[in-house]
Amino acid sequence: MMTFEPIGRVKNELTEKRFIKNAENIVSEIIIEEDYLDGLYKIDEQKYIDILFGFHQSEGYKMITPVFNGETRGVFASRSPNRPNGIGVTTVRLLERKGNKLVVTGLDALSDSPVFDIKPSDFSFQRNINIRDDAMPSRPRINIEKHISCGESRALLNQAGELHGHFCPGLSMGVMATMHVMDLMRQTSDGMEDLLAFVETNNCFSDGVQYVSGCTFGNNALIFQDYGKNALSLVDRNGRGFRVRAKNDIRQVIDNYFPDFNPLFEKIVVERNHQDELKRKFGAVSRRASFGMLDIPFDEIFNIQEVTVEVPAYAPIEESVECAECREVFMKSRGIGRDGEFICQACRGIHHPFLDGYGIHCC
Ligand SMILES: [Zn+2]
Ligand SMILES: [Zn+2]
Repeated sequence: MMTFEPIGRVKNELTEKRFIKNAENIVSEIIIEEDYLDGLYKIDEQKYIDILFGFHQSEGYKMITPVFNGETRGVFASRSPNRPNGIGVTTVRLLERKGNKLVVTGLDALSDSPVFDIKPSDFSFQRNINIRDDAMPSRPRINIEKHISCGESRALLNQAGELHGHFCPGLSMGVMATMHVMDLMRQTSDGMEDLLAFVETNNCFSDGVQYVSGCTFGNNALIFQDYGKNALSLVDRNGRGFRVRAKNDIRQVIDNYFPDFNPLFEKIVVERNHQDELKRKFGAVSRRASFGMLDIPFDEIFNIQEVTVEVPAYAPIEESVECAECREVFMKSRGIGRDGEFICQACRGIHHPFLDGYGIHCC
């Protein structure tokens, strides 16, 4: 027979027994008993911890039990608080340690619940399986989300490189800025315009943003403002979020950390010197700088501020019509109607703004 002595107790707003939804928004304090305080040594280095606690208000259990969506399941296939041994285990985010208190979010335990144990979360199993293939066909970005929440910037940069074609400091900055804000907002993206990214430049930075945020050119969640600034505003449907901007002296920062990057950049990218040997060298230097950027403290590279911006309505689904001249189908709003017929812009010969390496312009 094993008996457990609580090492601490939960304090939060959850005083009534009820189904707990959105625990990630609930802030709890775990008050640790005096005798166990030394056991908290270096716990503040952890971002996520597992809490084992007791369901002190639960009595009895059913082998087959109803779960939150109305389904019934075996007790071991559920997170029901009514269990043979009333033990709860939840991974929470550790915000801070204040003496004998751990301030956490995400704990779905009632106030006064006894806490039996605390451990750093171990993500190594999740890291080594490809969750996307196994279990989450409906959330194709699950691996990206996992990398964001575990702070795995290297993995994200590697994958962003697959999209971007090379590794460079700009790509890293896009990855870093987006990771930072998504982690702050605790927001995920399903590419349905509920998370929106405003980027102010079309360069390497924006590819890091697209890859990590899931806000892309194709899903209308990427909004391009042609200001030519390395800046990103990531906001929710209500327009609330953060704007991150590269510091004015970013070139100098890169120069301090990676002195061989800028001179080679001048030769290869600015002067378009395509000598093979030089290109190879630049590739290696750029890659080193790109991954090295990830170790530079965020505040040395970026300014960040909370913002509220105006967001566009969800993109309309448009009627398709056939062009009377070229016979190709196009979105109705993109052409003109004439005597019940429609003509596309290409056939009208009108030059409409387009986006290329020079920004948005007409011709
Ligand atoms: Zn690049
Ligand atoms: Zn046409």
